[in-house]
Amino acid sequence: MTEYQVPRGTRDLLPETMAKYALVERKLREAARLFGFREVRTPTFEATELFTARSGDSIIEEMYVFSDKGDRSMALRPEITASVVRMYLNEMTKSPKPIKVSYLGSCFRYEKPQTGRFREFFQFGAEILGAPALESDAEMIALASDALSRLGIADLVIRIGQIGIMRQMLQSTRVPREGWPAILHSIDKKEFGQMEAAFEDYGDGGSSDKFSALAELKGGREVLAEAREISGEMEALTYLSTLFDRLEKMGVKGLTVDVGVVRGLDYYTGMVFEVDSPSLGAEKQVCGGGAYALAEVFGGEPIQSTGFAMGIDRLVLALERQGYAFDLSGVWAYVIPLGEKAVAPALGLAAEMRMAEISTDLEMMGRNLSKALAYADVCKARYAIILGERDLAAGNATIRDMKTGDQKPTKLTEIVKIFQALIQHEKQ
Ligand code: ATP
Ligand code: MG
Repeated sequence: MTEYQVPRGTRDLLPETMAKYALVERKLREAARLFGFREVRTPTFEATELFTARSGDSIIEEMYVFSDKGDRSMALRPEITASVVRMYLNEMTKSPKPIKVSYLGSCFRYEKPQTGRFREFFQFGAEILGAPALESDAEMIALASDALSRLGIADLVIRIGQIGIMRQMLQSTRVPREGWPAILHSIDKKEFGQMEAAFEDYGDGGSSDKFSALAELKGGREVLAEAREISGEMEALTYLSTLFDRLEKMGVKGLTVDVGVVRGLDYYTGMVFEVDSPSLGAEKQVCGGGAYALAEVFGGEPIQSTGFAMGIDRLVLALERQGYAFDLSGVWAYVIPLGEKAVAPALGLAAEMRMAEISTDLEMMGRNLSKALAYADVCKARYAIILGERDLAAGNATIRDMKTGDQKPTKLTEIVKIFQALIQHEKQ
């Protein structure tokens, strides 16, 4: 035991857990690739202003900020979208449009740790820059939906809204623009008491009911008509109808309208969406995204942008909760030399197997057969290859199926071929 512990809110991902993360990450990457996104990677720390420029206050309070040796203020990234937009402005403004990129990486927020909420966590995300809003929004929702269904999470709810609905409604109240973020924030957190108090502060308590009624509208497309009854005809509502038409043509199913989705960050400008896995309880949101304006905040030309980010830790948790059968199997072959004379042939065999891309591990501890087999079992090796001195003298070895315990003597020279056939067979 050491006196050192992981910092609060961080974890060591041990092999079994890491295997689950790797599976989730592989499937997410695969979805992005199938949709024509190309992966990028940006630094884990950036100039603090990159995040203070426009992110919501909550994220700024949550940031890890430090001065580097040159006395510059740096922050560990609390999210990755800002970095992608900075990268676009630095390097890609001349690249052909649209720019479709995806990323995977760690983010850092000084939060109160609990199940599904960490101080270092992992995000998968994607952004489209430079395509029209409708096309981008539909593509991003389709990708999020595809990526999540590829994972096989059982209980997903995809809720889509439009920030313009609440914004346009706010225009017809007495609340000045500076007062909007606080009201939108209380709508995001569904704290309607707080929202009402804010309206009252501006002498407009009467507006509060309309907003809470709208914020609670949730359901199929028919909700758009109900919203129209409260807010009147609105471009944002017509836009959502058109977006749903396009998504239907793309074969995306199971979407809900949720007028109350306004997202925490201030840089969203149009469509906004969130995905929940209710089995996760309080920390149920696994994905958030929408159309945003960041390039101009960073001093660039405006560019239409839509993106989302998913919490990989929560996706792994959701799969664990539903009893997902993760494949935690180890190597195909565990080679066990018995006796000094067996070591050289064992080394040769392991090298040959690895050369043929058959995952192979080798007993390094000189243990007897039963102890070596116990270790192979713990590591979930699929087969053991036992090299005994007497067998070797006749050019033979024994292949043991670790699941059934069946053993078969085999010619040493045939082992690679036998494994290639076994692997082929088990993959079918
Ligand atoms: P929450 O309301 O749960 O704090 P958020 O709105 O702050 O989420 P985003 O900034 O949209 O989250 O980040 C995208 C996704 O990253 C979230 O939907 C969530 O799955 C995940 N996420 C955010 N913060 C954390 C965290 N501290 N630990 C683990 N996952 C997180
Ligand atoms: Mg948060």
